[in-house]
Amino acid sequence: MVGREINGSRLELVEGDITKQKDIDAVVNAANAELMPGGGVAGAIHRAAGPELTEECKTLAPISPGQAVLTRGYNLPNPYIIHCLGPVYGRDHPADELLANCYRQAIQLAQEKGIRSIGFPAISTGAFGYPTREAAKIALKTVMEELRRYDGVELVRFVLFGEKDLAIHKEVLEEI
Ligand code: ADP
Repeated sequence: MVGREINGSRLELVEGDITKQKDIDAVVNAANAELMPGGGVAGAIHRAAGPELTEECKTLAPISPGQAVLTRGYNLPNPYIIHCLGPVYGRDHPADELLANCYRQAIQLAQEKGIRSIGFPAISTGAFGYPTREAAKIALKTVMEELRRYDGVELVRFVLFGEKDLAIHKEVLEEI
C-alpha cells in the first residue's frame, strides 16, 4: 500500500476489489448513464449490493458525464455508494474536465453528507477506454486539490484492479 498525507487527510493506493472495502463509508461506482448493472465496476457493485440498489437507481437516472449521485449501500459493507458517470474516451468532450468533475463532485457530495472515507475505482479506464496513465494524472491531481479544499473527508482510497494499474498510479503519484 502506498500513501500520502494531504492537509491532515490520507490518500491511499491499493490493489483490490471495490466491493470488498469494509472500512470505507462510501465506495464509488463507475456507473453508466442509466445507473444500471452492466459490466466492470457497475456489475460488481450491483451484484454485491442487491436488487434494492437497482430500484433506488431508477429514481435518479439518467445522469450526465461528470455528474455524481448518492445512494445507500444496501448489502455492500459500505453505508453509501456514490455513482459517477465518467466520459467515454473519444466521444465526451472535454474528457479531462468531465473526468475531473467526477472526482470533484464525489468528494463534494461526501463533504455535504458527512462521509469521511471514500473508495474510488479508476473511473472511465475500462469499457469507456480512457488511457490509464492519463486518467490517473487527472484523478490524483483532482483528489489532492479537493482534499486541500475540504476538511471533512479524512481518507480517499484508490482501489486499483490489478498490479499494473496500481504500478501506474504509484508512478503518477510520485511525479505529482
Ligand atoms: P468505465 O465504464 O468507467 O470505464 P469499468 O467498470 O469498465 O468503468 O472500469 C473502470 C476500471 O475499474 C477499470 O480499470 C477496471 O479494470 C476496474 N475494475 C473492474 N472491476 C473492478 C472491481 N470489482 N473493483 C475495482 N476495480 C474494478
